[in-house]
Amino acid sequence: MRRSPVRRPAPLRDLVGVGVGPANLSLAALAQPLDGLDAVFLDQSGSFRWHPGLLVEGARLQVPFLADLVTLADPASGWSFLNYLREHERLFPFYLAERFHVRRAEYDAYCRWVAERLPSLRFGHRVDTVGFDPERAVFDVRYTRTEPVDGVESRGRVSTRAVVVGVGTEPHVPQELRSLWAAPGAPVLHAADYLEHRETLVEAGHVTVVGIGQSGAEIFLDLLRRRPVGRERLHWLGRTEALAPMEYSRLGLEHFTPDYTRYFHGLAEPVRDRLVASQWQLHRGIDDETLTAIHDELYRRALGGGWPDTVITPGVSVHGARRPSPAAIELRLDHAQQNTTGTLATDAVVLATGYRERPLDGVLGDIADRLGRDARGRFRVDERFRLVLDPTIAESGCRVYVQNAERHTHGVGAPDLGLVAWRSASILNDLIGEERYPLPRRSAFTRFGLAGGVMAGP
Ligand SMILES: Cc1cc2nc3c(=O)[nH]c(=O)nc-3n(C[C@H](O)[C@H](O)[C@H](O)COP(=O)(O)OP(=O)(O)OC[C@H]3O[C@@H](n4cnc5c(N)ncnc54)[C@H](O)[C@@H]3O)c2cc1C
Repeated sequence: MRRSPVRRPAPLRDLVGVGVGPANLSLAALAQPLDGLDAVFLDQSGSFRWHPGLLVEGARLQVPFLADLVTLADPASGWSFLNYLREHERLFPFYLAERFHVRRAEYDAYCRWVAERLPSLRFGHRVDTVGFDPERAVFDVRYTRTEPVDGVESRGRVSTRAVVVGVGTEPHVPQELRSLWAAPGAPVLHAADYLEHRETLVEAGHVTVVGIGQSGAEIFLDLLRRRPVGRERLHWLGRTEALAPMEYSRLGLEHFTPDYTRYFHGLAEPVRDRLVASQWQLHRGIDDETLTAIHDELYRRALGGGWPDTVITPGVSVHGARRPSPAAIELRLDHAQQNTTGTLATDAVVLATGYRERPLDGVLGDIADRLGRDARGRFRVDERFRLVLDPTIAESGCRVYVQNAERHTHGVGAPDLGLVAWRSASILNDLIGEERYPLPRRSAFTRFGLAGGVMAGP
């Protein structure tokens, strides 16, 4: 493959966004009306797609539609979900439907509508590194075009004084299952690729879904609905000790507010770590509607007498696996509460084993030794979503912001779509040095912590 010349004067932008998922798409939408702010957003994908492998029919967003890209920071923005509906002449049907939680596919379509109209987005651009040029006091962002034109792989550079990294998450496969997943033979796939392989799974003799979270529940339900009554031949297993519903009480949801985010950021690092681990039901449970739908479907299948041919067992770890032949899979199971082990023969496995934050060390590798780290080597992120930089960069006024890479510093709300618009607006206000988007000083009825150590009266 021929390469185009690398050395060209790099254009200087006010802001470069790395990655265009909902987080940086929100930032791009809120940045668009800001006069004089020259921003560009680069994403390695060919176009905007939101978790395409899991846009299962009927699956809904777990946040109300008001948690779109802009509304909770700027309800008057033209990039709102309601304006998307107006443009598509669907406002009245939506109003009459009275459903606050829209379908996941509709959220994806709305985001694509925004992405196709924002001039600042560049798809097919993978950011390789962000370096720092001390002479010009700018970041040097290097990228590769992921879709070569006429066989020419082109690389480029853009300079900027502010970078917002929004590279999101990637599918996680536990170490003990990696070789099973990577080897050819009977299908073993991550939930992120579910829809692409659904027909194969529907036709497989026996299917095991590993992982008792939201994706595992949705896939189990979808397969259950598509397999013959009495011959479902489905196992659903996971390490989680119970089929726990996701916390969805009104006051419980106040953990996903700016107030809780600020409170959490002020806590000591060991306390924050302990809290994130203990709050799994706030973000790793299963929504009540999906659990009800699974029970309904199982009940319907039991009406003719007998039980559906399904096994649902929480508290089970899959601690190993092998392929006795290319067409067969054997999982080694472990039940901690019972202190028992067993094996399960199956013909296909779906690993609904979650997602992990994409490591930033690749993209930020060139400045990695200039970034502040905590006791566990993670990046330190200040209250305004800025990475803590060493003085040589910090004193130049250059900044690196992160979106959805700060759960360890800002809490369970980091990946939540309900905080996306607020976080984007906070970043833009900080960047331009004025409160262009006025943000609420109070956002929850709960008062988190004692103000100044003293419990004031009403
Ligand atoms: C199936 C699913 C459903 C979810 N549903 C909800 C929900 O209902 N409510 C909720 O609050 N949260 C939900 N979440 C959690 C979360 O909000 C979403 O995952 C959301 O997509 C996160 O947005 P993001 O912009 O941070 O990252 P992502 O959506 O992961 O986007 C990151 C982007 O960065 C790009 N990228 C990565 N590396 C580079 C690079 N080097 N150069 C250029 N581009 C790069 C990727 O191509 C990608 O487009 C869900 C998550 C999943 C997996």
